[in-house]
Amino acid sequence: MVEFEQKATARGTVVHWAKDSEEARKIIFSILERREVKRIIKSKVMTSEEVHLNDHLEKAGYHVLENDLGEYIQQLRNEPPYHFVAPCMHLSMKEISDLFEEKLKTAPTDDPEELTMIARRFLRQTYLTADAGITGANFLIAETGMISITENEGNARLTGALPKTMISLVGIEKVLPKMSDLALFLPMLATAGTGQPITCYNTAYAGPRQPGEIDGPEEWHIVLLDNHRTALLADPEQRDALHCIRCGACLNVCPIFKNIGGISYGTTYQGPIGSVITPHLRGLQDWKHLSGSSSLCGACTATCPVKIDLHHHLLQNRRNAVREKPDALEGLAWRLFAKSINKPVVYQIGTKLAKLAQPFHRLISATPLDPMRAWTKTRTAPAMAPQSFKDWWKARHLPRHPTRPTSQTSPTRPPHAPARSKRSIEATNSRELILARIEEALSDTHPQPFEATAAQKRAVLPAVHDLVPQFAANAEFLRAEFHACADEAAAKAKLAELAAKHGWKKIALHRGTLTQAVAPALPTLDATDGYDRFELEACDAGITECDALIAQTGSVFLTARSGGGRALSVLPEHHVVLARRDQLLPDLPAGYELIQQRYGAQWPSLTTLITGPSRTGDIERIIILGAHGPKKLTIILW
Ligand code: SF4
Repeated sequence: MVEFEQKATARGTVVHWAKDSEEARKIIFSILERREVKRIIKSKVMTSEEVHLNDHLEKAGYHVLENDLGEYIQQLRNEPPYHFVAPCMHLSMKEISDLFEEKLKTAPTDDPEELTMIARRFLRQTYLTADAGITGANFLIAETGMISITENEGNARLTGALPKTMISLVGIEKVLPKMSDLALFLPMLATAGTGQPITCYNTAYAGPRQPGEIDGPEEWHIVLLDNHRTALLADPEQRDALHCIRCGACLNVCPIFKNIGGISYGTTYQGPIGSVITPHLRGLQDWKHLSGSSSLCGACTATCPVKIDLHHHLLQNRRNAVREKPDALEGLAWRLFAKSINKPVVYQIGTKLAKLAQPFHRLISATPLDPMRAWTKTRTAPAMAPQSFKDWWKARHLPRHPTRPTSQTSPTRPPHAPARSKRSIEATNSRELILARIEEALSDTHPQPFEATAAQKRAVLPAVHDLVPQFAANAEFLRAEFHACADEAAAKAKLAELAAKHGWKKIALHRGTLTQAVAPALPTLDATDGYDRFELEACDAGITECDALIAQTGSVFLTARSGGGRALSVLPEHHVVLARRDQLLPDLPAGYELIQQRYGAQWPSLTTLITGPSRTGDIERIIILGAHGPKKLTIILW
């Protein structure tokens, strides 16, 4: 964390430390006031939901617009996100069409792409006029002081390119040591979250606009949020919950959350991971019921890509809640249950009596006389099976199990409360306090640094000798258009053909060897020395070079230098990338190695992996064109 702070600060980012929600909001408000901000755009930021930022901003008179399509729809409904990957996945197309008709006065439609384009029209102008942008981050990279943001639509890219002031609110658990770690985490997040090999845009930002760059914010602030994360870190039993990469896979497989959805329990983080961490973030006694909303089937643990032991943590939360505040009545009920279940005769008599009492219970069900009223006033009491399991077993003359299993689940360790250190007692500010808490929390561990070798990182990839077909297949799978040309003259002809086919009237490019060599003879916005954002938005195509093409994923690896700044490759409707054959690399580790060698410590302030044109699955999970980035991505190689 300290390395991240040093590296980020060296690039002009202002790093703030917030011990809780209140301090995070205070820091953000002070930045907005000093910068005289009025209009704010926000890309999907779960931490802002955690600290209830929108409510406070709106109450204070700021105009805040969510620009992720799903979040925008939820904002129009005045509802929090339903799922942290797909915020409006519970809504049907008709419901979204009705919502737009009511709020935006548009005509009804049952075409998801038309709905997305309506949102695009409404949201586009806000990027160009917003004073500040607020984002979260998927990862913080200590080595470079960069933040990495994963998305499909391009809204976070536009947010990081256009407003003059940027604020990123990020949990302290998001830090990764090296840039090359992204080669593992980016595909893992995409595959576990949405089943894609990689998401459309994976962008790493190193702070504000750097000297010599043509665009980007004047100020970038990162607010590092603790908000009880260090307390979770201090619990050796459950600290692995901080490994969560918010892929949402555990929600998708959970039989409970699949049916009742994510907002039913009023938590910021939904599903099994939400049930595990919310009691830590918001108080065990108030949120202990979440741990009971589980069948403990273990599907969440089995699917989690970072191997968080979710269903055991739910059990531990149940145990901790009882230990912390025992309930005498509940304790008595469990003791009686334990006694009866251990004495078959008592258990059998009990079930027989319950069966006899059942018809009488139906008469008083849900009335004040009903002892089970807390349950029955909202649900029907389940009927007892006509035949007990024991009778069913007997009826089949099945042999008894020869031995009764004797092993018992070993009680897990109680939460660990580390002794407060002198450093944390004497801390005079939030930075010192958070760092001291991290040190205390980890005082019982001696983690061995793990460094995967390049061979290990690539072990799963098949050796491919000719990279062009592999790149073409992966890029086209994600709807990019790919042309391999014989030489520069053929590339020039292809670009002229595209200009004629799409009726381009004006293009934008930055001065580079390849762009200059093959650009079509059209009116051009030369973005090399800066540009007017409205003029750039009106261009039919943005033509850029790149640093590399990645065959493993069909991605374009582009930086602020090769891509001509931040907005040129994302604002115009069509992005055309020019590349030479020798820029093709086999995989992501090779891409990160190349960038490291090329730029050394001076990473450009933007590094982005672009895989296909903007896309979204927010409406009924149908993959269509996204609401923000370019509608087309064309790659020309020679
Ligand atoms: S707990 Fe695991 S499966 Fe669930 S969101 Fe986090 S990383 Fe994904």
